[in-house]
Amino acid sequence: MQCKPPSIYFVTISPVPAKTIAMSKTLFEKIAAREIPATVVYEDDLVLAIQDINPQAPVHALIFPKQPVPRIAEAGPADQKLLGHLLLKAAEVAEKLGLTKDGFRLVINNGPNGGETVPHLHCHILGGRPMQWPPG
Ligand code: AMP
Repeated sequence: MQCKPPSIYFVTISPVPAKTIAMSKTLFEKIAAREIPATVVYEDDLVLAIQDINPQAPVHALIFPKQPVPRIAEAGPADQKLLGHLLLKAAEVAEKLGLTKDGFRLVINNGPNGGETVPHLHCHILGGRPMQWPPG
């Protein structure tokens, strides 16, 4: 007598390592986690300010939230307090870097046409020379 093939098959699926499914960290998250070195100029629970690695002015710092928001266009009402904090601290960092008397520029690049290269919201703090307008 012939045996019928089984109608149910069991397949073993290996679990996907957590590392594979976890979202990869942004450059600035890695800096905040001290996985990548940077010169820190200000830090609190919510934001970190560092010297820009490729300064575009005599003074060029970046300030960003430790919890990443990809860019300003993707911020929402829940980010309102954080964004206010970011701007107030940007002005404090500018003061700390000696920029308040002569003035400074804050820049937030958004998306390809805005010149954003790091997809983690950050504000540039630029000073130490007169800035041009319109920007390039
Ligand atoms: P954006 O073009 O507005 O996205 O700005 C990204 C900024 O991050 C640029 O001004 C870069 O020079 C700066 N940057 C990139 N890598 C580093 C790093 N490892 N440390 C500090 N600044 C960096």
